[in-house]
Amino acid sequence: MDKKDYYEILGLPRNASKDDIKKAYRKLAMQYHPDRNPGNSEAEEKFKEIAEAYEVLSNDEKRAKYDRFGHGGLRGGTDFHEWSNVNDIFSHFSDIFGSAFGGSIFDDFFGTSTSQRTKQRTTGIAGSDLRVTLKLTLEEIAVGTTKKIKIKKYSRCNVCGGTGAKNSASFKMCPVCNGTGEIRQVSRSIFGQFVNITTCTNCGGTGKVISEPCMKCKGEGRIYDETTIKINVPAGVYNDSYMTLRGEGNAGKNGGASGDIIVVFQELPHEYFTRDGDNVIYELFISYSDAVLGTEVEVPTLTGRAKLKIEPGIQPGKFLKMREKGIQHLHGHGAGDELVRVNIYVPKNISSKEKEMLKELAKMPNMKPPGQN
Ligand SMILES: [Zn+2]
Ligand SMILES: [Zn+2]
Repeated sequence: MDKKDYYEILGLPRNASKDDIKKAYRKLAMQYHPDRNPGNSEAEEKFKEIAEAYEVLSNDEKRAKYDRFGHGGLRGGTDFHEWSNVNDIFSHFSDIFGSAFGGSIFDDFFGTSTSQRTKQRTTGIAGSDLRVTLKLTLEEIAVGTTKKIKIKKYSRCNVCGGTGAKNSASFKMCPVCNGTGEIRQVSRSIFGQFVNITTCTNCGGTGKVISEPCMKCKGEGRIYDETTIKINVPAGVYNDSYMTLRGEGNAGKNGGASGDIIVVFQELPHEYFTRDGDNVIYELFISYSDAVLGTEVEVPTLTGRAKLKIEPGIQPGKFLKMREKGIQHLHGHGAGDELVRVNIYVPKNISSKEKEMLKELAKMPNMKPPGQN
């Protein structure tokens, strides 16, 4: 079977940096993760392909082998895993996803939430996860923010407390399991008799069923309505990163565990700034004469305006650093910088008087680059 080129899979040139590789992997893995493409086997294949490419290219030694010998230089099982289960991939690479949120949140979202929910579940049917997109300005991202949003979801019924029954006496013994909560099946073979015990699906293992349902939720134990949720957004999040609000998704049926809310952050484009990691870049335009003579200007920052001194003789393209005026780091203390790039404003329309003066100026000895006349 012909394998696709690893660089091609990640959409990268062969000289891509380690950081590029990590970024490309993270982006593609999010896109093709089976949780986001339920029942799509093509996405799952693609996801495994991406993981394999990342596993090789993120390791200097394996990458060097691949660069020299191609796929023939690598051995499956040694140089890359032959994944059987997509959750394995996530636990294996959890560091790269964890790096955004200190470990737990991506793990929760990608790896363990389903199995944990199953474990917690004692009765009823678990509620589903909800996904919300939260738009944030750079100013909000810079220092973190708290947002309240309204969503429609299933919430636990406050009349019956989620049981779905009218009151504590509104239960009767489950007729299917006779109140044991278990179904026993006996089978015989030449090796002897086997007893197979499973949880009763009629009562969910409680041994009881509702005889008189709650009036408000009609026995479901949950109500569909609009709820306000509060989201504490840490400083330094980036576009497409996620946060999981555990247990705040749809309430389960008849007391089943609640799903999660997955909050996806979306960074809104900014009027002045472009983001580079935790730094922000601002394009400053000054006149030619100010560049020669030096000046003081006012520039926008993420927390208001600030003064900036321009030294005489500054060259276009130079970056002036405004320390810690960027975005607070997601981990640890401190913040990125605001980088002010100095550009020279060149007017397109000038008066005849200005033209005359510029021509005069151009004749002066210091106006041309050395070696030109
Ligand atoms: Zn109810
Ligand atoms: Zn039962």
